[in-house]
Amino acid sequence: MYEEMYSIRMRAAEGGPHEHGGFHISGGETLVPKDLLEAAAKTFVHKALNHSRGDADFIQVIIEKVSSDHLVRLPPLSVSTEAVNSVEEGRHRAIELLQNFGVSEMAIANGIERLQNTTDLRGAVIMSAVGGERLDDRGSRGVRATRMGWSQEGYTRWSALYPELASPRVAEAIVLATKVAYAPFIVAELCWSDDPEYVTGYVSCREKGYVRITHLKEKGDFSGGRIFYVSDDVQLDQFIGFLEQTAVLLV
Ligand code: AMP
Repeated sequence: MYEEMYSIRMRAAEGGPHEHGGFHISGGETLVPKDLLEAAAKTFVHKALNHSRGDADFIQVIIEKVSSDHLVRLPPLSVSTEAVNSVEEGRHRAIELLQNFGVSEMAIANGIERLQNTTDLRGAVIMSAVGGERLDDRGSRGVRATRMGWSQEGYTRWSALYPELASPRVAEAIVLATKVAYAPFIVAELCWSDDPEYVTGYVSCREKGYVRITHLKEKGDFSGGRIFYVSDDVQLDQFIGFLEQTAVLLV
């Protein structure tokens, strides 16, 4: 029998809740055993209150018990870094890699354009990896992957392997990218943060892992988000159901 785990997720906005027009400031989710729950909630409140996107006046934290028998245990994606000197070079590399992962030129161009013109997306846009059209109808809410986190042993092992990357930001992104990479119908993911201070982004897929690209936008730019590229036979209910409901623990 495994220990019971709790899913904890946070969202924060300025100017009221997101659904009443508040500007998205920060979000996060993790999966922790009971004895770490209070510390995790505190970390999320701290993250919401200390964000370069603004001064949150709405913070919601939701906690739910997840039966450990229903947890899917996955190994983290392998990580590599592409050091580039400019946004132009970074995007060029992202295009090459995504093509190599099976995303069409048109879909890549649409994905980059969408992220470039989006400053208030809370979740991800689901996009056809072939035609490049948006497939979900969630607007600026997007689709959020939830119910996922590191096991303590998994995190200890991973951070010893990649000591230079072991920041909360990268650790959280690896969890998300790994869960997404194991979703049915996924082809690849593209991400850069909407945090104006953070310009490193990534592309990822199950076979090639998580590839960090050191410049995908300019400093001071509020644009960003995530694109989940899916195959044309996607069953959206199944894909979104996996992202939102299946509990995933990285080991
Ligand atoms: P972050 O990596 O936290 O800076 O988030 C950057 C962007 O990725 C956000 O603005 C959202 O568009 C998207 N995002 C963040 N968390 C999730 C999630 N759990 N599921 C889907 N998309 C997310």
